Amino acid sequence: MRKITLSNGKTVEVECLSCALTSGLLKPDGGVVFETEYFHAHQDVAYPIKGLIILASKRHIKCIDELTKEERIDYIEVLSKIRKAQRDVLGIEYVYYFYNEDTTHHFHTWMVPRYEWMYEFGRSVESVRPVLLLARNKMNSKEDIQKVMDALESLKLELNK
Ligand SMILES: [Zn+2]
Repeated sequence: MRKITLSNGKTVEVECLSCALTSGLLKPDGGVVFETEYFHAHQDVAYPIKGLIILASKRHIKCIDELTKEERIDYIEVLSKIRKAQRDVLGIEYVYYFYNEDTTHHFHTWMVPRYEWMYEFGRSVESVRPVLLLARNKMNSKEDIQKVMDALESLKLELNK
């Protein structure tokens, strides 16, 4: 078991945070954005950025080549569906995607929207870290969090209609 500190300050002991979230054992702040038989999407509330979504597989695997054919098809369908909702509802023009196979959790893809203010850090992958930290450390007022939660609700409505 590993002890994980959540964004709301609570600590939980779980084998795998992704398993805890996708199984429903742990409820993410803001709830489930969208889910299918194979995948589960939620806002990464550790970084208050509107429309920052994490798409995690329900199975405990680490690498993309471990997905079954059904999961692969579902993955690209869900990823595209969320992407379209980000554009239609939140006006997000571009998104950065990344996932690391040596995660301490399990297979999950970050969908990080790009907003104008982020370009002062450039367009490279190196720009992502300072952007996330700035959001976490400086854009975390009650109003900021509320905006993130409002955006999340609009995404949920769009994806589940
Ligand atoms: Zn897991």
